[in-house]
Amino acid sequence: MMRQVDQQAKAGFEAPSEALEGWRFRSSPRARRLSARVHLDGRVEIVLPRGTTAAAVEAFIARHRRWIDSRVAERRALDPAPFPPSRIDLPAFGQHWRLHLAGGSGAPRVTALGTGLLSLRGAGDRGAMVGALREWLRAHCREPMGARLGELAQQHGFAYSAVHLRCQRTRWGSCSRRGVISLNVCAAFQPAPVLDYLLLHELAHTRHMNHSVEYWQTVESVCPGWRTLDRELTGGWRHVPSWLFS
Ligand SMILES: [Zn+2]
Repeated sequence: MMRQVDQQAKAGFEAPSEALEGWRFRSSPRARRLSARVHLDGRVEIVLPRGTTAAAVEAFIARHRRWIDSRVAERRALDPAPFPPSRIDLPAFGQHWRLHLAGGSGAPRVTALGTGLLSLRGAGDRGAMVGALREWLRAHCREPMGARLGELAQQHGFAYSAVHLRCQRTRWGSCSRRGVISLNVCAAFQPAPVLDYLLLHELAHTRHMNHSVEYWQTVESVCPGWRTLDRELTGGWRHVPSWLFS
């Protein structure tokens, strides 16, 4: 059983089907009814009041699907993010990379030519190029994210068994009962304090596999600004370049 930053576990609800990939389901104790929000980048967020059943969510989506799909199409048509991007900024590490298109043949591949300069070589369609960039991002984030996780664990006395990096649009991170922490590389596009919060959020799950009062007390003790940072992380998808999932 995984626990996610967005507290899907608390809602006892998982996204109903593959077709909704990229949709986000957020439980909100303050919400009084189901609602849908289409973000500027075309992402869809469904807000669930406490105790919402999967059947109620499915009925809600069925009722509003046409409206949501048309808004998503509108947003995507306005999406200005160019591809390939001319640069990739990773604020979490204070890094800025320029991307040089080197051309040539063969499958697309990305290499770092030096500090701040990436080269995208080879030929292929957009999907293949995005794949190469995602692969680079995942490999590149391993060291700084892993190192920071280790640092924070040591500083606050948490123990975890392994760390996996993923690139996905649905969750920021999770922690298994065995102490395996999964992190979304999209966190590299967030400010450094937001990445730290994500790491501490997952580390705190090594002590409490839930979002109980005790869990949040642990978070509070290691990250007093967690409330603001949690909100920033929730809205953090807007910092993730849309080409990454195109
Ligand atoms: Zn959590």
